[in-house]
Amino acid sequence: MKRLMILFLAGAMILSGCVSTKQEETSEAPLEKVSLPADTESEKQALEEIQEETEEATTGKIMEKETAEEKIKPPEVLFFDTYFSDSENRGFLCSEYEKPQDIDLNELYYTGAGLEQHSMTDEERAAYEDARGEVIQYDMICLTTAQINQHLQEKTGLTLKQMNTDLDWIYLPEYDCYYFQVSDANGDFDECTEVIHSEGDTVQVRYNRYGGRKGMATLKKEGEDYLFLANQFEDEVYLYSDLQEEIRLDDSWLYGEFSEISTGAAILYHTNSNKSKGIVICVNAGHGTEGGSSVKTPCHPDQTPKVTSGSTGAGAYTAAAVSSGTTFLDGTPEAKVTLAAAKKLRNILLQWGYDVLMIRDGDDVQLDNIARTVLANNYADCHIALHWDSTENDKGAFFMGVPDIASYRAMEPVASHWMEHEELGTCLIEGLKENDIRIYSEGRMAMDLTQTSFSTIPSVDIELGDRASDHSGEQLFQLAYGLAKGISLFFEKQGR
Ligand SMILES: [Zn+2]
Repeated sequence: MKRLMILFLAGAMILSGCVSTKQEETSEAPLEKVSLPADTESEKQALEEIQEETEEATTGKIMEKETAEEKIKPPEVLFFDTYFSDSENRGFLCSEYEKPQDIDLNELYYTGAGLEQHSMTDEERAAYEDARGEVIQYDMICLTTAQINQHLQEKTGLTLKQMNTDLDWIYLPEYDCYYFQVSDANGDFDECTEVIHSEGDTVQVRYNRYGGRKGMATLKKEGEDYLFLANQFEDEVYLYSDLQEEIRLDDSWLYGEFSEISTGAAILYHTNSNKSKGIVICVNAGHGTEGGSSVKTPCHPDQTPKVTSGSTGAGAYTAAAVSSGTTFLDGTPEAKVTLAAAKKLRNILLQWGYDVLMIRDGDDVQLDNIARTVLANNYADCHIALHWDSTENDKGAFFMGVPDIASYRAMEPVASHWMEHEELGTCLIEGLKENDIRIYSEGRMAMDLTQTSFSTIPSVDIELGDRASDHSGEQLFQLAYGLAKGISLFFEKQGR
């Protein structure tokens, strides 16, 4: 994802403009009203604050006019403002990594990292165009292996060979050089906000990104310079929700006694939207409970056996409290993908004015399928569990419908709720279809699941694909968007 540099420069000019105005002022004259186009929320906010203050000052109510941007920063925060603005360092804030080997080299060198560019000879240009199969249209970035190694060595202590990511550029061995055409810029570093000293020479630097998002870089002092160790972006969810609550299971709740793993907490995100719908959606990222597969819970609240065969066979009285899930053909565990999709769905729903009960908000939550279901029953208006199937033919999405078996449909709470499960499942498939997601067969497979067997609200296990399916960020977003459409459709039909 690349964003235009112009936008950031405009932002930087607005903010630095405020600062220099302040510095140059000797008297406390009110700031002039600014009416520049604001491109991001933080800029808009900054502009609104300035305008409000100007109005207050001119009416003589309040003469205090120091905004957050104008506060004097500690010298080391100012140091990192400059340090991260330097093109040699800026690229290290363009990807997330927990160790320097995982830095995304394509993001790091996207605009050349400020390294000296040699002018390409005619033969070199011809060799590049030949390798690329296209004529050069934009500015060329050319980095020799020696340049990259020197830069990486200085900034991370590593060489190109030690990195885990590849530079997807054209490489010409005869020049030992990597080539890339750049038409825009990446990165969204705005300003540093805090420097935290941890163990030894390690510092953590918190910073703001444009658009109101935040990040934190971890660096280690090495002589006069720093080595980059890690970089994380704060989840965008905080743009959409200022208030989150931990929700824990209460054993006195209906069916709570059947849960075996219930020490974890789900998180209830309250929407920031001023058009709050007053509807809570339970988003349940399937799997992700350490130790869950070696604990058993009853299949049905009335202790009858399972009526269909899935990961647990028909006739079984108990099933894994939480199974470990499948693994994608590329080796990615299902639990990791269900969480990534759940976060995308959560963010969309919050933006649309729904509150979201996130059953699992990290890699592990100590809540089994019964605890998850009972939490949803007590806090949410519907329950959607995200899964991928264990087949490997990329067959498309479908929901787990309620089996048409008289004894099962007669058992409570299934008897009172199976029709709304079916209705929700049908709406989800409708939403996915509308978003051009491939659907398996009729979009439904009948299955006796713990979730369905204990649900007292509309509740669906949806299989969004299988082990062979694309699980890129873009695809997960499309799936989440389709599900959100389906959820809206479901509540619209109910007149909510
Ligand atoms: Zn699953």
